[in-house]
Amino acid sequence: MNERPLLVDYHTQSIEHGFANPRRVRETVQAAVNGGLSTICLTDHYPLPPRFGDPTEEHDCAMPLADYPQYQKEVDAAMAEFGGRIKILRGAEVDWLPEHYEWTKDQINAWPFDYVIGSVHFLGQIRNSDGTEGNFLLDYKEEEFLRGLDQFGSIKSLVHAYFFEVGRMVRSGLFDGVGHLDLIKKYNNGSLFTQDKPWYRDTVIETLRVIAMSGMSLELNAAGLDKKCQEAYPAQWVLEYARMLGIPLTTGSDGHTPEGIGRNLDKAVELAKAAGYTQLVEYRRRQQKAVAI
Ligand SMILES: [Zn+2]
Ligand SMILES: [Zn+2]
Repeated sequence: MNERPLLVDYHTQSIEHGFANPRRVRETVQAAVNGGLSTICLTDHYPLPPRFGDPTEEHDCAMPLADYPQYQKEVDAAMAEFGGRIKILRGAEVDWLPEHYEWTKDQINAWPFDYVIGSVHFLGQIRNSDGTEGNFLLDYKEEEFLRGLDQFGSIKSLVHAYFFEVGRMVRSGLFDGVGHLDLIKKYNNGSLFTQDKPWYRDTVIETLRVIAMSGMSLELNAAGLDKKCQEAYPAQWVLEYARMLGIPLTTGSDGHTPEGIGRNLDKAVELAKAAGYTQLVEYRRRQQKAVAI
């Protein structure tokens, strides 16, 4: 019997605001060592394609492509320094941008990744208040989410559009794990929709079936516990359904600061067990291996 649960963090960010911010990979890994994690996968947001409009005010959704080799050197340095104390994996969280499929594929193949998360954060274009069009980043700010919702016409069409892209992302075969499957609920505390409605359940279940066929893993992402939605990504009923379909699972904090690394992972393990999971999967060079929890 394990005395304490296996704590593996497969979703972490170090360089949140590009290299202008002095925080570095080293501090992230140090935090993981201090927190007693057995594995940390460094999954900083992969740079956006050239000329892709970053809608955030500081244009810091992801580090610039030119900085990425330096970031990977920091990952190498962290592996050399801390490798004896914690398992460190080379990962990335990569956006699903269907119109940049070839570029994305080439970028992923250019690095010896252990694990690659595919995430849908961007969902087409919306009109900004100044009349210009911009890429719709659905988890950036609640006001932007609501503006997008308004332009989609209804929560139902926005949710459908989101899961449609998740399905395409999974079918693309480019990625290993599905990032925060039901991120679309981030700002929903029940006022936008309830998850017991057949249209919502059917949409999610259909997506789970596509994931099950693909062999990809799902992440149990603890960050949602601290957001307006007040639950992990995905919701517990979704996790139970995923387990019934035999979908492999990872856990991740999605921590964006050293203090956030490993946060709520113990809760995530409890949720996984409550859903009937007895194992997680770990990755090495993009191959899955089951580990007991
Ligand atoms: Zn994400
Ligand atoms: Zn993330």
